[in-house]
Formats: sequence, C-alpha cells, structure tokens
Amino acid sequence: MARKIYIFDTTLRDGEQAPRCSMNLAEKLEVARQLEKLGVDIMEAGFPAASPGDAAAVREIARTVKNVRVVALARALEKDIDTAWEAIRKAESPRIHTFIATSPIHMEYKLRMAPEQVIEAAAAAVRYAKHYCSDVEFSAEDASRSEPDFLCRIFSAAIDAGATVINIPDTVGYAIPEEFARLVAHIKANTPNIDRAMISVHCHNDLGLAVANSLAALRAGANQVECTVNGLGERAGNAALEEIVMALRTRRDFFDLATGLDTAQIFSTSRLVSKVTGVSVQINKAIVGENAFAHEAGIHQHGVLANRQTYEIMTPESIGLPQNSLVLGKHSGRHAFEERLKYLGFALDSARIDELFAQFKILADKKKTVTDRDIEALARGASGTIPETYKLERFAVQSGTQLAATCTIRLARKDGSVYEKAAVGDGPVDAAFKAIDEIVGRTLELEDFRLSSVTSGEDAQGEATVKVKFEGRTWNGHGVSTDILEASIKAYLAAINTMEWEMAVYE
Ligand SMILES: [Zn+2]
Repeated sequence: MARKIYIFDTTLRDGEQAPRCSMNLAEKLEVARQLEKLGVDIMEAGFPAASPGDAAAVREIARTVKNVRVVALARALEKDIDTAWEAIRKAESPRIHTFIATSPIHMEYKLRMAPEQVIEAAAAAVRYAKHYCSDVEFSAEDASRSEPDFLCRIFSAAIDAGATVINIPDTVGYAIPEEFARLVAHIKANTPNIDRAMISVHCHNDLGLAVANSLAALRAGANQVECTVNGLGERAGNAALEEIVMALRTRRDFFDLATGLDTAQIFSTSRLVSKVTGVSVQINKAIVGENAFAHEAGIHQHGVLANRQTYEIMTPESIGLPQNSLVLGKHSGRHAFEERLKYLGFALDSARIDELFAQFKILADKKKTVTDRDIEALARGASGTIPETYKLERFAVQSGTQLAATCTIRLARKDGSVYEKAAVGDGPVDAAFKAIDEIVGRTLELEDFRLSSVTSGEDAQGEATVKVKFEGRTWNGHGVSTDILEASIKAYLAAINTMEWEMAVYE
C-alpha cells in the first residue's frame, strides 16, 4: 500500500494574500466548494486576525464545506488564536494553525526575542490553541534558514504542548531539494516525540524549486504538503498543487505515495481560480497551461496519432481537460447541453440550466460553432450563486469619431421596478458604466477593466472582466457576449450584484 499524502490547500490564504489575487466572499465560497469537490484533505481558509472581512470569509467557508478540514491561521498570540477559533468553531473539522519565526535573522530583527523565549512562546500558543481545538498545527516560519537542532527542540516543545502537525516552511524559497530533504529527515530522526505528530512542508517558489522541494520532502518522510492552485502565493508563489499531485500520480512507480484527490477536477479548479483572481495561467504552465497537452510539431502529432504514449506521459482526461472541439450547435437539445455542462464540471440546478440553455440558443444563432470554451464562459459568466439585484433589460449606444458617446441603459431591479438612464462618456463603455452608476445611485471607482476573446474567429465571444472599488473594498465581475459592450455591461453589473449581496450579508 502506498503511503498516503495529505493535501493541504492554502489558495484561500497564502494565494489570496498575494498582490492582485484578492477574492471577495462569493468568490472564496465558490473556490472552497470546488476545492472540496477536488478532494483536498485540508483547506486553509484565511487569516482571521488580518481583518474583519477575512474573519467573516473564514466563518462562511467553515459553515459551507463539510468533507474537508478547515484551517485558520494565527500568529503565536492569544488574540490571534481567539479570532481564529471564533471564525472556524462551526466547521465540521476545524484546525488552528499557529506560527512563529525560528531563523536567527527573524528572531533577532523581527521578533526581537531570544531563542529560549521563542520556544516558550510557541509552546504557550499551542497550549492556548489546544484548549479550543484538538487539532493544532505549529509552523516554524523561515525553517529552511533556521538551525536544524533548534527546530527539533521547538517542534518537540510544540508536540508536548499538544501540536498534532508540525510544519517546516521554506518561507523565502531558499531551499534546494537534497538539502531540504536532509532537513526533513534530520527533524524526523532527532525530534524525540515526532511519532505523535504529522510532518508537513510549505515551500515557496522564489528559485522555481517549490514543487521539487516539496516532493523531496515527501520522499524524506513528510506526509502533509501545503500548496496552492496554479501556484499562486506570496512573491513567486507557492508549490503548485496540480504539479505535486500529478507528479505523484504519473510517477507512482518512483514515489509510491498516494493522494485522495479526484484529479479530473484539476482543470476546472485551475480555471475557476484564474477566473476569480483575474490572474491568467501562463500558456506553457505545467499541467494546466493552454499548451500543456498541445502537440504542434508534425513529428509529434504523427507519433501521438499512432500511439498517444509516444509523447504523452499523462492523458488530458486525467486532469479533466475538456476536448476543445465543436460539440454543440443550434440544433442541440437541452439534454445534450445539460450533459455537456456536467462533463465540464458544472453541477447546476434545473432552473439555472434552463436559463443558460436559453442563452446558449441565442449564442448558437449568432455563432457557427459553439465550443466547450463558449459553454464554460456562459456558465462562469454568472455562476448563479449570487442573486441578481439588477438585471440588464436593454441598452442602446450612440458613438462615433466626431461625437461624444451616449449610452441609454434599462435595468430591472429584483423588487420588480425598472429604471432607465442615459449618460455621456469618453467612449461607449464609459458612458454605459456612468448610466449604471446613476441607476444604482453609487459612484464606483473602476480599478481594472479587461477584454479578451473566449475563442478565435470573427464570431468569437468577448469576455469582459472588471474590478470596481467602493468604500475601500473591491469586487470583480465577469461578462460574456458576442458583443463586447454587452459583455462589459454584464461584467459591471455582476460586480455590482456581488457588492449588493455582500453588503446585505455583512449587515
Ligand atoms: Zn507561505
């Protein structure tokens, strides 16, 4: 029997705290549900002491997911631990994760504490967390630049205080695989009570070695690995979940280690995280990049056609990569459409499918071919989890080179009332957003606005992504249409609807 490796996902904590990767509450919940579907063993939902918004998000996630352990991060401080526990206490399986830095440079300059004080603080924090929660993880921040024997002492003290998991982070991405494996083996061999705790690792990618270091550590005896979807995270990011999991699966012959993940959910998870954070996946990214399974060179194509294994070490199906071919057209029925949605990883209720099917019919009339990408974009365009406070009824625009753009918009509010406003702006998109602001009665700051095409060709669908700011908080929205102005309006409304919903939830 292969040894089981526990996958600890920290996309919602380490990934989310990276610059320009923030997610709003609705997006975090969507990612959390998808991670549960992917089958991660543990998910770090956030750092509740960071802000009341973070705490509220962790609380909602803890209430939402069931088949996964939910972790809240806390510094080795009583008030952080109180806040962390408050946020996860309703989780089916909660864990408090507390940490303190252990490298000479961090202890001296950041903590201004002597090594003995750091050990005492770590043990005290674990003991304090333990009176709330039976499952407590302790991390020695900057472990890879810490004294190995000091690590053994602090881990031993943490385990005596009740820690169930001890984590060895390469916080600054400094480690080299062989050296990191040696460190893990040293800790395993020289921490007297180590048999009472699980060994975890958490690697950063500053030298591009996060996955290599994580895999080396697992071979050396670690049995929990902390990672993120698409490798998001501070600076150069964390170890990429999809790379670790697929390396273990593809090279099971070498590692003899197993995870409980449903790898066929990897592609949808990657796309979802990319979508909600607005951070695209590089085209040649291992496992989930657009080119990862594309065979361009003629000789390779020939080989793959004769026998896929000539150039393929994994199948596209193993990560749930949809075949991007013509699948549906204007004559396709609702059943075929529903089957396709299921295949693409969308579990939607019947009313939602009806609504999407109506949109699909309109799209199939406008476009010659409707691909999986188009359908994904439709389904993601409005995931259905956010109630629509405002819905677009119609719009009209007047613009040209010699004339200021004017846009008239008609929106229906969920209480049944209908509003129509016109506004003038620098171009049609600006005019449309101003007209919407007038109806909604709020002046939103547009932080980011991007247009991209879902597929190629003249009849391609355009996808708009907007980020709006209001009273210091930001919300993202996505919209899809064959008309880029309509896609932009839908994206703007999606951001507003999320904002309205969240404001109501938090009140
Ligand atoms: Zn980290």
